[in-house]
Amino acid sequence: MKLQEDAGIDVVGDGEQARVHFVHGFLANLDGIDFEKKTLMGIRADRYKAEVPTVVGPIRRRGPVHAAEAKAARAHTDRKLKFTLPGPMTIVDTIADEHYGRREDLALAFAAALNAEARDLEAIGVDVIQFDEPAFNVYMREVADWGMAALEKARSGLACTTAVHICYGYGIKANLDWKATLGSEWRQYEEVFPLLARSSLDQVSLECRNSRVPPELMRLLDGKDVLVGAIDVASDTVETPQDVAATIREAMRYVAPEKIYPCTNCGMAPMRREVAYAKLSALARGAALVRAEVGPSR
Ligand code: ZN
Repeated sequence: MKLQEDAGIDVVGDGEQARVHFVHGFLANLDGIDFEKKTLMGIRADRYKAEVPTVVGPIRRRGPVHAAEAKAARAHTDRKLKFTLPGPMTIVDTIADEHYGRREDLALAFAAALNAEARDLEAIGVDVIQFDEPAFNVYMREVADWGMAALEKARSGLACTTAVHICYGYGIKANLDWKATLGSEWRQYEEVFPLLARSSLDQVSLECRNSRVPPELMRLLDGKDVLVGAIDVASDTVETPQDVAATIREAMRYVAPEKIYPCTNCGMAPMRREVAYAKLSALARGAALVRAEVGPSR
């Protein structure tokens, strides 16, 4: 977190250092899951296969999952603190089910556990809770059918800022191969953004840098804060501040500047530390370039 501060990042996180996986880390303190019972399952509509834990009974949170990490993070920074949780649909897509039978029912069970966790995190002083929902880019019909309802249940009653992150995944081979099949324009966001615009979530985090997402799709997020991904996490090439500024300026054609929060496309977990630092520094400096143009309000 000190490195994030030194790089000039205003909203910092703990880097999920205490988790083995962005989904399975949250499951550690839940009843109803057998971690020994591994099931080989196709993930994200069979984009890749993974051995995942299995739901064998009712999902119940035994107690706080991430409280110790959140308290440690809160104690070590005066900046705004963001904490990430997996979204309910993405959890459902990353675990085998032998109990609930319907993905919708399982999602709502996880949403209740996520909501209890999120309320604890808010009480600890977390400023922004972000639900990571890469599955929203894959199962667009189910997002409308039950994914949004589950996400709303996960964030219900929270007074802190809430965000949802929907991305095309970082640089593992299965994701790169999948992206190669998506054609010249990635329009997946087009189906989900209108639903998010009508939701109670405050912020939407998306990827822009080196993606083929048509930037005008950001118009569909009218009223929301837009976390503009200006750093490619699937490449070790470090963006210049000018690159970052160009991505932000492009976003400003569709989103009011006070609604824009420049960020990275996705997490930096697989990246070397010095590359990650250089990219974060470029992000802050690029944002500063545009802020100087836009004026003193931001
Ligand atoms: Zn992501």
